[in-house]
Amino acid sequence: MELLQRVLDGSLMPHGHCLLWRWDLLFLHVGGDTLTTLAYFAIPAILIKLVRKREDLAFDRVFLMFAAFIFLCGLTHLISLINIWHGYYFIEGLAKISTGVVSALTAIVAWRLLPIAITIPSRARLVAANEELRVAREDILEANIRLEEKVKERTAQLEALAVADPLTGTYRRSYALDTLREELKRAQRYDMPLTVAMIDIDDFKTVNDTHGHLAGDDVLRGVGALLNALSRDSDTIGRFGGEEFIIVMPECDETQGLLAVERFITTLGEHDFTLASGEVLHVTCSAGTAQADRGVTEAELVGLADKALYKAKKDGKNRVASSDGRLSGAADSSGRSD
Ligand code: GH3
Ligand code: MG
Ligand code: MG
Repeated sequence: MELLQRVLDGSLMPHGHCLLWRWDLLFLHVGGDTLTTLAYFAIPAILIKLVRKREDLAFDRVFLMFAAFIFLCGLTHLISLINIWHGYYFIEGLAKISTGVVSALTAIVAWRLLPIAITIPSRARLVAANEELRVAREDILEANIRLEEKVKERTAQLEALAVADPLTGTYRRSYALDTLREELKRAQRYDMPLTVAMIDIDDFKTVNDTHGHLAGDDVLRGVGALLNALSRDSDTIGRFGGEEFIIVMPECDETQGLLAVERFITTLGEHDFTLASGEVLHVTCSAGTAQADRGVTEAELVGLADKALYKAKKDGKNRVASSDGRLSGAADSSGRSD
């Protein structure tokens, strides 16, 4: 109690006497201490708010110590402001000693943190590093996009190579038969017509025997290119084997198919096949067509078209025969409207 009374004893000589109650001196002391007190109370509040809001803040302990010693500084200034009129020198002394202890501790902690604090990059450096990362990331993304495009392109090339017949530019037999299987299912499911044609070059052995196999290859290449050019996009042309081609014609009945194939073999028959030697060659082709009936398998359908082809060959070549017995010569063909 006695100690408390001593501490709270404000009866000591009013400090204001030292200022001689001069208004200018008073103004400087009162103004200075008031402003400093306000600022020193506000700064800790800001620091505490910062520590609470920024959960990722490094050294938050030292921030709180700064807040404490600044608050105590503010308290000291407040008491010296009061002591202009009163004499609470014990309280002022206690505030000063507390400020001193906390300030000294803060200085020690800050000193020990200095090496780490020095290595913390500045905001400008972080912004620059961030920008470098952004640019690098964009470069990587761009490179990735280019790579993806290249992979897509190469994949498409490989896929095309896997299904293409290297000599004629038509599809391989396996791909044509897969397509036929799919189209047959579709045609049967949606009750749509589907026609298959087999086209065979007439007397091709003679071409080889007379002009050589390389010339024969040129002719095969030319026939493949012509068939590709003449057919519609939805048709699939495959090299069935040797000098024989299969054409899968979805949404096409046998009458339309017959007309289309007539047009093909007429064009093929009229075409000038120019050999490497410069010699011009003409070939004719025979064909057989067959329309898919309900329940027919792809093997049966190919068999029917093959049988019709055999008939066309037997009846004199350079013509088209249909599986339903129709036969037409290439000469009286008419076009198919695509
Ligand atoms: P047909 O009118 O009855 O069809 O008689 P063809 O001579 O055309 O038929 P054949 O089956 O007797 O002969 C086919 C020939 O096609 C024999 C073979 O050497 C040739 N051939 C098969 N594949 C190729 C090839 O890739 N290149 C070349 N140059 N010739 C081929
Ligand atoms: Mg032949
Ligand atoms: Mg043949």
